[in-house]
Amino acid sequence: MLKLIIFGPPSAGKGTQAQRLSKKYGIPQIATGDLLREAVVRQTPLGMKIKSYLDTGRLGPDDLIVQLISERVAEPDCSEGYILDGFPRTMGQARELERMTEVDLVLNIVVEFEELVGRAVGRRICPQCAAVFNVKSNPPRVDGRCDRCESPLTQRDDDREDTVRNRLKVYMDQTAPLIEHFRTKGNLVDIDGSAGIDGVFDQMVRAIDGLSGQTQAETH
Ligand code: AMP
Repeated sequence: MLKLIIFGPPSAGKGTQAQRLSKKYGIPQIATGDLLREAVVRQTPLGMKIKSYLDTGRLGPDDLIVQLISERVAEPDCSEGYILDGFPRTMGQARELERMTEVDLVLNIVVEFEELVGRAVGRRICPQCAAVFNVKSNPPRVDGRCDRCESPLTQRDDDREDTVRNRLKVYMDQTAPLIEHFRTKGNLVDIDGSAGIDGVFDQMVRAIDGLSGQTQAETH
């Protein structure tokens, strides 16, 4: 069983790393943003309620988000664990998560604020398979096409500069305070987000593999 949280500001690279970790450790990535965007596209009742939050970069109501997550983690593919990407984002969500389960590790990606706006504006996503690219730092092999499924790439509506700045402010006000909460609990590791995609991934793998080392040391 392995339960992870990937934490960090918008466009720190949470989704990219969560997808790679998902492959390596065989546990699903649960990205609240992806689930919400999908609900909006499918025009489900949740999607109708949440659309205006997504459009403006505000956080959706805790009760809706917590319900979404609790249903998702109850699905059979989560039996060996999961990677939470974009949840929790408020102290209320963190408390609800703690009532639900214990998390093994919080991987906190640390990135200079100045860099985040540029990264978000350069981000391209595949609407078919959710692969993430960046025109500068991680371009697709063929311009504008997904490497995995060849679908045309799109830009997220909320990756416009004004919305990005709002999302960063929301992060600072409501989400960043969770870092000290997790640090006090003792299961948070800082990850240097400037190390490139492979460098960030290696730091995460070392931290995760260190967990089983700890367990072995405890049992021997
Ligand atoms: P993301 O793809 O993680 O950047 O999320 C995109 C948007 O989805 C955010 O700007 C919020 O409007 C909404 N969202 C995602 N995760 C959460 C969450 N845990 N709580 C509230 N709103 C969220």
